[in-house]
Amino acid sequence: MKAAVFHGPRDVRFEEVERPQLKEGEVLLRVKACGICGSDLHTYRHGMFLDLGNRIESGRVMGHEFSGEVADICGEVPGVSIGDRVTAVGMGGNAEFVRLSAEMAKNIVHLDDSVSFVEAATTEPLATSLHAANLGKAEDGETHVVMGAGIIGLGILQCIKARSSARVIVVDLSDKRLAKAKELGADITINARETDAVQEILALTDATQLGVVEAVDGKIDAVYDSAGMGKNFKGKSVLEQALSIASVNGRVVVVAVYEQDVSIDYNIVVRKGLQLLGSWAWTMEEFVESAELISAGKIDRMPLVSHQFPLEQASNAYETQLLADEAVKVVFTP
Ligand SMILES: [Zn+2]
Repeated sequence: MKAAVFHGPRDVRFEEVERPQLKEGEVLLRVKACGICGSDLHTYRHGMFLDLGNRIESGRVMGHEFSGEVADICGEVPGVSIGDRVTAVGMGGNAEFVRLSAEMAKNIVHLDDSVSFVEAATTEPLATSLHAANLGKAEDGETHVVMGAGIIGLGILQCIKARSSARVIVVDLSDKRLAKAKELGADITINARETDAVQEILALTDATQLGVVEAVDGKIDAVYDSAGMGKNFKGKSVLEQALSIASVNGRVVVVAVYEQDVSIDYNIVVRKGLQLLGSWAWTMEEFVESAELISAGKIDRMPLVSHQFPLEQASNAYETQLLADEAVKVVFTP
């Protein structure tokens, strides 16, 4: 079968590899769409998170954001038939076929006819956003700040807007991504390349760095760090900025990955009584809810799919996903 195989940093090759063999209770999907995840990019750039790739003889096959058609079933899997349109959890989706373990086959989610395979492939990153949004607990009348308008940050915005009337401020360095945030309902967007986002937000909300809030509706109830920090980044980390703008008793949800250590003034956390919450992955309930939000039309993911590539152009696809200014979500359509 066709596959995109990771050999080492900046080295992904299109190859012919062996099709996965099934054991009892396992399911084979013909992959129709598979997104490139931020975690795949950390692997692609620096070889991080190798465990998220499927080991094969010549290297690793990445990709866990996929949808497809059931091509084969070993034995019986209740509720699943050949030809079903589904999305599921698994590894090795940058290929023509992907094997779902017996455990994962039990959690197959069927797709509504109205949902395309490409849109369905964005279910997993939406679940990651939903998990972060659930930690941020948006309520009507609150103000939340999303720092970083990539697929996860934009997904957090979508989740908050789908389920509350909270005000959302989105900060990013790319005008293109900020325009996308506006299109998806952001109330205010700030380009941190052009202005000091911390000062701007503090001014907007009548808050101060130490969290003395002069106007109740000027509170920043939650801040999401969906930007993180790359290996070569210098300057004030997004996490430090997030801690600066969160109001007293606010929540700071860190869903981004840090490629280097970051130092923070913990006194800010203490004095403001902040909740600092790490957010990794999601629960199966959140994965199912994400699929439902898409099929119910409450969240439209197609505006986030910026590029589609065949597996033959694997290297091009990964390089494109690296272009933060250009790409939001790159999807393989094998
Ligand atoms: Zn992912």
